[in-house]
Amino acid sequence: MVNYVDAVPVPSHPQCSAVRSPNGTVSWGCRTLMFRLTIAGPDTHVASSLCAHCPHSPAGCCVAPPRFAWADIARVVQHGGRDFLLDAIAKKQLVKAPHGLTLTRVKGRVTEAYGSPRVAKCVFHDGKTGCTIAADRRPATCNYYVCSDVFEDATRDGLGTLVASATGAHAELVEKFVAWDERLDRYVRANYADDVPYNAAFFDDLAAVFCNMTSDEKGGLQPM
Ligand code: SF4
Ligand code: SF4
Repeated sequence: MVNYVDAVPVPSHPQCSAVRSPNGTVSWGCRTLMFRLTIAGPDTHVASSLCAHCPHSPAGCCVAPPRFAWADIARVVQHGGRDFLLDAIAKKQLVKAPHGLTLTRVKGRVTEAYGSPRVAKCVFHDGKTGCTIAADRRPATCNYYVCSDVFEDATRDGLGTLVASATGAHAELVEKFVAWDERLDRYVRANYADDVPYNAAFFDDLAAVFCNMTSDEKGGLQPM
């Protein structure tokens, strides 16, 4: 098992500072907040100021929301988000899918400005603040994925070592989430067959199985 926290290097920027929280989370960010990597196991977070001026789409990655897979559902429930999921399903913001859930896309203005273009984007993206839900309510991919432009931007800013850590954490998380999802998918098929109930008891069960799977992961938020 990789200890993510130990894998974080010290950036060469003198203006960078480290924040180490009691739960083991380590964040590095330079003064201009160009790029930030927070190492926290399944809750690892990569953020870049480039995303506010995305070169690909006025609504950034949120025009194509990722899957809300079994492992994402379980992780959200682990962090106390079970009722959030039930409510979002009732409002059709999340819809049932063979892999778990799918984030609904709706057409809306990119910003509040008059005449701002309307694009189809994730239901939780608004024209003011971007994503309107907390990081522990999103699919993990929303938190740890950034495109190659972000890495190139950060590398140009002299943060190549940090970028290497972020790409490494990203690759490892993709591999782990795929494996967790496959195991949870087998569990769902074996125990719920074709009639997945999507109710509170099912979500709690999924979170308990996920908790056992990820119990050796360091740095993530603790189950509530
Ligand atoms: S990660 Fe890349 S594509 Fe996504 S919002 Fe940021 S800059 Fe845009
Ligand atoms: S959940 Fe938030 S970050 Fe993820 S696609 Fe939707 S609006 Fe974007």
